[in-house]
Amino acid sequence: MTDQIKIFCPATIANISCGFDVLGVALDSVGDEMVVRKVSEKGIRITKLIGQDLPMETEKNVAGVAGLALLAASDHDGGFEIEIYKKIKAGSGIGSSAASSTGAVWAMNELLDRPFSKVDLVKFAMEGERLASGVAHADNVAPALFGGFTLVRSYDPLDVIPIPSPSELYATVIHPQIEVKTSDSRSILRTKITLAQGIKQWGNVGGLVAGLFTSDYDLIGRSLVDHIVEPIRSILIPGFHDVKSDAIKAGALGCGISGSGPSIFAFGKGVDTAQKVAQSMKEVYKNIGIAYDVHVSKVNIEGIRRI
Ligand code: ADP
Repeated sequence: MTDQIKIFCPATIANISCGFDVLGVALDSVGDEMVVRKVSEKGIRITKLIGQDLPMETEKNVAGVAGLALLAASDHDGGFEIEIYKKIKAGSGIGSSAASSTGAVWAMNELLDRPFSKVDLVKFAMEGERLASGVAHADNVAPALFGGFTLVRSYDPLDVIPIPSPSELYATVIHPQIEVKTSDSRSILRTKITLAQGIKQWGNVGGLVAGLFTSDYDLIGRSLVDHIVEPIRSILIPGFHDVKSDAIKAGALGCGISGSGPSIFAFGKGVDTAQKVAQSMKEVYKNIGIAYDVHVSKVNIEGIRRI
């Protein structure tokens, strides 16, 4: 029996335009790596953390907290050691914490011969998200665990709906190296919306989900609109409107804020379009003089995987 596995934990885009707090997608070309070992000593220990300056104490690291949630629900007598090789920058808006919390629980479940369902794993990983942001949200952890697009239809009870991804759909993500405090990006949101805004938003959510199911790229593009959160949050991201309009000119189907920012994502059909979109996004930040990272990625339909 294997007592150790090495895994790839994908970055994820949450808050996909009209799907604020409910729609997310897993990426393929950017993610962390982890090595998880089953040991006889009880509890969880983070034995290595390379690539980012993050706490290694079990209770302060999302991988530790999510792992402890799984251990508490399991009859396993021993514990686990975790090595984390971070490639996703914390606070970038592409699910850095979700990659670690889902990676820990996915690997532990494999090493225990899969006693838990994917929905159980989402619940354990959400405890890591609670540590990272104060809110146990599932819109990054669900796509990391299920792969592809996911809709969190309901939290109580938790109901995660996997959504197929058209085969030529690519994401382009640009991460401008600026700090947007999560507390700021939350505090500026309005908590009330009008009926007219609601009608537009749920029309687009339905359109986006239908477009993904039927591989209707035009419908996906028409539906990637957010009338509620983006107009407010985009104020915190310099260059957002130029990035968006240039991405659309370069062929993107749609463009929006990834997670709570500052990363900006666009979807496009085919890798060539996605590369052109990347180029157009880079130009904007070159002109403003802000450093950036860019990722072009196919949608990752598998989610976390062994490597
Ligand atoms: P993102 O904006 O990429 O989604 P997150 O919201 O995932 O960023 O959260 C990053 C926060 O989680 C930081 O405050 C960081 O200190 C904390 N954190 C704790 N453990 C980890 C970990 N293993 N990986 C990433 N972030 C972690």
